[in-house]
Amino acid sequence: MILNISHTPHLQSIHVMKKQHLPEKICIFCDRPFSWRKKWARCWDEIKYCSERCKREGKKHQSLDDEQ
Ligand SMILES: [Zn+2]
Repeated sequence: MILNISHTPHLQSIHVMKKQHLPEKICIFCDRPFSWRKKWARCWDEIKYCSERCKREGKKHQSLDDEQ
């Protein structure tokens, strides 16, 4: 019984060249561009700030008549 174990593995380097073009926006608070993130998948249209911090700060500046 001859077992031919010398099988060369065909290692094909598969190039996953899927460069998705992520949408970008400019943060209305810090004026910096930021790109789409998965966590914003549902609400990307409503996203105006690049981060929670900007969001907080921006709202502080924006809604002046919201002050109590
Ligand atoms: Zn920002």
